Amino acid sequence: MLFEKLNLIKPIQRALNTEGYEKATPIQAKAIPPLLEGRDLLGCAQTGTGKTAAYAIPILQGLSFGQGNTKGRRQIKALILAPTRELAIQIGESFDAYGKHLGLRKLVIFGGVPQNPQTNALARGIDILVATPGRLLDLMNQKFISLNNIEYFVLDEADRMLDMGMIHDVRKIIKHIPETRQTMFFSATMPTEIAKLSETILKNPVTVEITPVSSTVDIIEQTIYYVDKKNKMNLLIHLLKNKEIISALVFSRTKHGADKIVTALEKAGLKAQAIHGNKSQNMRQLALNNFKERKTRILVATDIAARGIDVDELSHVINFDLPEVPETYVHRIGRTGRAGMGGIALSFCDQEEKPLLRDIQKLIDKVLPVVEDHPYPLMETQIKPSTTDRARKAFAPKAADPNNLRKSRRTSAEKHKRSKWDQAR
Ligand code: AMP
Repeated sequence: MLFEKLNLIKPIQRALNTEGYEKATPIQAKAIPPLLEGRDLLGCAQTGTGKTAAYAIPILQGLSFGQGNTKGRRQIKALILAPTRELAIQIGESFDAYGKHLGLRKLVIFGGVPQNPQTNALARGIDILVATPGRLLDLMNQKFISLNNIEYFVLDEADRMLDMGMIHDVRKIIKHIPETRQTMFFSATMPTEIAKLSETILKNPVTVEITPVSSTVDIIEQTIYYVDKKNKMNLLIHLLKNKEIISALVFSRTKHGADKIVTALEKAGLKAQAIHGNKSQNMRQLALNNFKERKTRILVATDIAARGIDVDELSHVINFDLPEVPETYVHRIGRTGRAGMGGIALSFCDQEEKPLLRDIQKLIDKVLPVVEDHPYPLMETQIKPSTTDRARKAFAPKAADPNNLRKSRRTSAEKHKRSKWDQAR
């Protein structure tokens, strides 16, 4: 649907033209009309679908109508809660872009940085506040922020807030927001606790479900590289030497792992930077800016730090480790293929990660193609038993175990060539 058809005011239309947006994405086409009518919204959508504009545009339009009604210092009328500073910054940038001709004031606040610049800006008066829960609560407790005038409330990436242990803070914040308001609730997944929270804060909402997980990932070219754990680094270096990879976001399960990858890449002459929770806010922002501006080609990230990273035309996502939670795979690869554009996602899978791959394929309802032709094919065929497994075995009777038999038969078969079924897994 064209934006022209959505009854948007001229200054917003103009800003969207400058951004180069002509057509509304599906979530925008479905969410903007009811939001303009003042309805509450439950959006099941993830980053990459255009959901920020889906709520930012109606909020901006609503606020622009109310402009001039109030005298004195500006009061916060729209609150957007986001789980990470990166996402908060990006949401702020979206409000700036779509609202550039409206003269509204916005502020983004998050923790890990001095609060003075934030409290100074608050003292001058703002219309729109984008915040992470911890810092918001902190400044509310210090009486720098009042939510008494909130008319629009957005909870973005609610499931992520649950994952990150923020849901308690979110509940406390909600208690301070007036009952009469328009609420927009976004979550990529709907765990029970999130569904319950949405029921308590939304009034007769319109539900917009945009990303049945499989359709989002359809536009992204995905492949699997079976590789031994010890060879993952060599394979990564080998792949990244290919200049056709214009920009790559490499995912590591741990912060320590991310640092190790960067060190190994740099040793191999490949410029890379890491972004994770142990880095200072400034270092993270610098790494992200360098990546966005193409000064670094490779960014290595952990899941939490990468959430909300929005880099136009990111060509490759590389899963150095497979995630424990299958939905995370979808979030990761969704960093590429933004707003309907294609992208490439390569995933390494060692022997122990095969069950994780199986779960991912079940979730996306797809068998991912395997790249066989690479210099570090999987050689190890047996899962190393964990300590507890080993202990259990030590006490187990030595009688023939049919499972072991099956395992050893498969092992020898795999020595020659993995079965078709296994390759497809
Ligand atoms: P989001 O899901 O809000 O993170 O948006 C994903 C990306 O899509 C961002 O880079 C937006 O700038 C871009 N985008 C949002 N809406 C549109 C649109 N209607 N047309 C083109 N790009 C868009």
